[in-house]
Amino acid sequence: MTTINEIKQALSTGEIDCVLLDMDGTLLDKYFDDYFWEHLVPEKYADKHNITFGRAKEELLAKYKSHEQTLNWTDIDFWSRELHLDILALKEQIRHIIEVHPHVESFLKLMKQREKRTFIATNAHYKVLDLKLRKTDLGKYLTGSITSDAIGFPKEMLEFWERAEQQIGFLRERTLFVDDTLAVLKTAKAFGIKYVVYKALGNSKVPPGTSTEFPAVMDFNELM
Ligand SMILES: [Mg+2]
Repeated sequence: MTTINEIKQALSTGEIDCVLLDMDGTLLDKYFDDYFWEHLVPEKYADKHNITFGRAKEELLAKYKSHEQTLNWTDIDFWSRELHLDILALKEQIRHIIEVHPHVESFLKLMKQREKRTFIATNAHYKVLDLKLRKTDLGKYLTGSITSDAIGFPKEMLEFWERAEQQIGFLRERTLFVDDTLAVLKTAKAFGIKYVVYKALGNSKVPPGTSTEFPAVMDFNELM
């Protein structure tokens, strides 16, 4: 397994020239998303259907589960139709909760200084990506973004990586990818991305995850 130190080294020598970063949980605190889907949406859904919060949450968790790792899961237009709630408007309502993880901004600044090509690679819907970039102003450090809805496959599938490679033209052996979802890291690794890092702390209010398979960081200052 490549160590974090080796990756840090590869970032400073230029062995890595392309950096792909997941958004939710990796750059941004996943607390926003967890609060949104596990608290706000059940609350609104309960009101709408005149049921208890507990019942609403139970029904919704089952619905979420049945669409996990598919494009529906990340498609807010799908959820707006499915739940009869304006999902984007609700997200706007709590946009003040969107937070950038510590040291992310200095990491992105450093990557820009070192002239890396840096992209967000996210399963998030482009409307949500847009909302979050407007709120956090991280776009100025980025070369661009790749979203699974534009690609047509979620990051958990090899097809996502094949098409992303064609679209932005990165070299697998010179690319770093950071994500807080292990299933996504597995696919990226199977595809052949050489430097793959697990962001263990996704939601700042939940204990971090662990991995025996991937080098892990809690915070981006470990990569600087
Ligand atoms: Mg994530």
